[in-house]
Amino acid sequence: MSAIGWRKKISNKIFKSIWLVAVSVFLASLVFIMGISYNYFSGLQKRQLKNETEIAARGVALSGIRYFENLGTDGYRITWIDAEGNILYDNEADTSKMENHLEREEVRLALKEGYGETTRYSSTLADKQLYAAKRLPDGSVLRLSIVQMAVWSLLIGFVQPIGIVIVIAFLLSFFLASRLAKEIVKPINEIELDHPEQYYDKENYKEVEPLLRRISNQQHQLKEDQRQIEKNALIRQEFSANVSHELKTPLHAISGYAELLENGMVNENDIRPFAGRIRMESIRMAKLVEDIIDLSKLDSRTSETKFEECDLYRIAENAVDSLEEAASSQNVTVQINGRSAPMKAVPQLLYSVIYNLCDNAIKYNRYGGSVTISVQQSRFDTVLSVKDNGIGIPKESRERIFERFYRVDKSRSREVGGTGLGLSIVKHAVMIHGGKIEVRSELGEGAEFIVTIPNEPDEKSILADL
Ligand code: ADP
Repeated sequence: MSAIGWRKKISNKIFKSIWLVAVSVFLASLVFIMGISYNYFSGLQKRQLKNETEIAARGVALSGIRYFENLGTDGYRITWIDAEGNILYDNEADTSKMENHLEREEVRLALKEGYGETTRYSSTLADKQLYAAKRLPDGSVLRLSIVQMAVWSLLIGFVQPIGIVIVIAFLLSFFLASRLAKEIVKPINEIELDHPEQYYDKENYKEVEPLLRRISNQQHQLKEDQRQIEKNALIRQEFSANVSHELKTPLHAISGYAELLENGMVNENDIRPFAGRIRMESIRMAKLVEDIIDLSKLDSRTSETKFEECDLYRIAENAVDSLEEAASSQNVTVQINGRSAPMKAVPQLLYSVIYNLCDNAIKYNRYGGSVTISVQQSRFDTVLSVKDNGIGIPKESRERIFERFYRVDKSRSREVGGTGLGLSIVKHAVMIHGGKIEVRSELGEGAEFIVTIPNEPDEKSILADL
């Protein structure tokens, strides 16, 4: 959605909410006020009817039936009943046809207590009929009655004014809500999302400041991610270029030797050493391809990253066993210190960590040197150290040796069959375990690689680290 699109949507939503609230509050108050006024008016009507009945009763007591002559009785029904219940006077009905009225509740009450009133629903509309009856000194009863309108009949009477008020209220709230919505959204509409920082601490933007801060953080994060992606793309590009270069070197050597052999340019006696060189170069190539495959597996974190119970000490023993021949050919002694170190890790990766570190410690050693491996476990971590007394690593290279294809001394690495990938595989494998690797070295005196790995993997932090 475009920026304009969502802003318009927010504004519409705010407008609708304000309008809905205003209209609902208004309608609710209207109903409430109607209810209260109805109650108030019906109470008032009852009191008035009582007063009027009492006044009329006094009049009838003084003047008898003559009191009704010339009496304006609009809206009232007046009935005069003698003590036996016979109708003496009624301004609306034919007295001779009227039944005895002694049983009527209000009359009964008036006879008994002097005054009585009742409310009955008339047969017609839902309107109510109010009756008030008063006993006269001679024992007869005067009754007044009026119609009390039902709420809805009252409403019908009010339809027009209420209708007008409702329309005005609707229009007014519509107008006010739309203005208010525009005013609320205005500062938001004016935000330049590319630079949310400029609105911090500004009066109109206090409420949206947390949002602006989030946007700003996310923008930084995105920029960083973008940079990282570009960097990774560059690294990958460099890596592919390096891979083809590294593969070409042994291939050229092999085809060169083969060509010489083919053209019969090699002495009978030199054929064997030539074949040996060809074999050496192909072993180097195979090793290189193997390392590249290992690295790409680590990059894509495929099947081999399953954490399981394993023992770092036992894995170290296995790795040393595999390197025994290489060590003895250099007359290098390898020693393992420590004891069983059970942990949850990826055993294949731990094996390649120890194998590569030991392999280097033997390769970059001197004739007759020594390698000491130690495994020490504490409550949370296991520390592996691989120490040699070989050629050591110059200070300026200590950080870079973990880079792919970085070698301190290219020809020495080639001579000993290195690929330049061993330590980058080690570092990657350690990271997958959420661990760290350190190197200490004194040039000419040897190097020590120290790997620390948690006993239990914390997968969340591991994923974040990668
Ligand atoms: P390689 O296949 O060349 O050994 P690595 O990635 O394993 O590649 O190591 C990178 C470089 O770090 C090596 O070429 C070597 O110069 C240096 N290096 C690694 N381990 C040692 C060590 N124990 N002593 C001295 N130099 C080392």
